[in-house]
Amino acid sequence: MPELPEVENIVLAMREKLIGKKLSQLNIRRADIFEPSSGAVRKAILGKKLNSIHRHGKYMILGFDDANLMIHLRMTGQLILNSADTPDKHTHALFDFDGNEVRYRDIRRFGRLTLVDHPENPGAIKHIGPDMLKAGFADWSEKMSRRRIPAKAALLDQKIAAGIGNIYADEALFLAKIHPLSKPCELTEDQLRELFKRIKQVLRLAIKHGGTTFMDFRDFSGKPGNFRRKLRVFQRDGEPCRDCNSTLEKIKVGGRSTHFCSQCQK
Ligand SMILES: [Zn+2]
Repeated sequence: MPELPEVENIVLAMREKLIGKKLSQLNIRRADIFEPSSGAVRKAILGKKLNSIHRHGKYMILGFDDANLMIHLRMTGQLILNSADTPDKHTHALFDFDGNEVRYRDIRRFGRLTLVDHPENPGAIKHIGPDMLKAGFADWSEKMSRRRIPAKAALLDQKIAAGIGNIYADEALFLAKIHPLSKPCELTEDQLRELFKRIKQVLRLAIKHGGTTFMDFRDFSGKPGNFRRKLRVFQRDGEPCRDCNSTLEKIKVGGRSTHFCSQCQK
């Protein structure tokens, strides 16, 4: 599932290629991914100029004249520019921005494209916390330190901060040497500060390397991300820890696979 770094890569590339261009055509092949309806979306954005693209956590918001389209890729959504392939059955919409074709493709079809009321802070996502790259330590640690759930689960809670998913939660906990089952309310201020620093560090590094691809993530040019080979623990269970050589383990935390080193993370 695309997390903050993967979405950021798509946003950076889309800004470069599409800002200032007009949505001249919109070919909807599957209507039920659009909210409130494909007709309402078409009426609101067709023929309009794209003025801005903002990201908040894993959400992106395309700001057109008088209308805004929010996109969440969920599990397997992809946005790909000028693909040479023939559109397959998983291609649900084709956007044409003055001759630049952008395909929305989504195998699992959990992704949504929704009309929203604001290009940066839509009411529909008011309940989620600040974007993790913009979050300040005081606010973040205040929310974290009240949580009695495992640290891994707290990192995935988008109400605390938005953008972290399974991959970068495991990686940040490893880098901060914190056990995924530790309770945030029992961590020291120094541990929380270290975790906060490591989250931002791993997100920035992953952005630099084009994000992580296991299965479906593709960047805007259709290429997979390069960060997978840099991962320290995620999906490396059974392999040796790169720091201490112990065998990495996998457990379930809040229903999510969690990868860690029981020697490095106490
Ligand atoms: Zn280790």
